[in-house]
Amino acid sequence: MESVGAFRIFERSVMKRELQYTEYYGDDDSKAFLKMKDIYGEDIVTKLECIGHVQKRVGSRLSKLKKKTKGLGGKGKLTDKFIDKLQNFYGIAIRSNAGSIEKMQSAVIAAFFHCCSSNRNLMHRQCPDGKDSWCRYKRALSDKRQYLEKSPGLPNSVMKVIKATYLELCDKNLLKNACMV
Ligand SMILES: [Zn+2]
Repeated sequence: MESVGAFRIFERSVMKRELQYTEYYGDDDSKAFLKMKDIYGEDIVTKLECIGHVQKRVGSRLSKLKKKTKGLGGKGKLTDKFIDKLQNFYGIAIRSNAGSIEKMQSAVIAAFFHCCSSNRNLMHRQCPDGKDSWCRYKRALSDKRQYLEKSPGLPNSVMKVIKATYLELCDKNLLKNACMV
């Protein structure tokens, strides 16, 4: 939302309707929010970000890491395709756990291991159980079907490097502000 417009709407709400907005939806580097957050007093307005923006951060942080870390990218390592997959599962994990930060956090962490999983090293232990799970392995288990892991996964050495960056994106405060749109 354009900052001047948003400011007017927030301001008007008090004058006309004696109502204060406490949540503001904006993107990552929204300048508008800085203007808004103290409109009714210090830090009364909380910034919510749409899930799309929170999710895209996975892609942008990992691409940046890949660029600056020698030998991280390349075949069988951190490819753009892998980053897309991880970003996608991160979004699914958030969306399927709306309402519980704890569950959301364990799901985004499970999504990481799920994506890194390969035939040599299955890592679906933390993925949700049941036939409606977003995890193909757990769905197969629940249907008593045999499961063949086709994903090449990630080597341990690469996993180790990206794990710290990914875990920063699993921070509760960051997830707390992800609104479901
Ligand atoms: Zn899984």
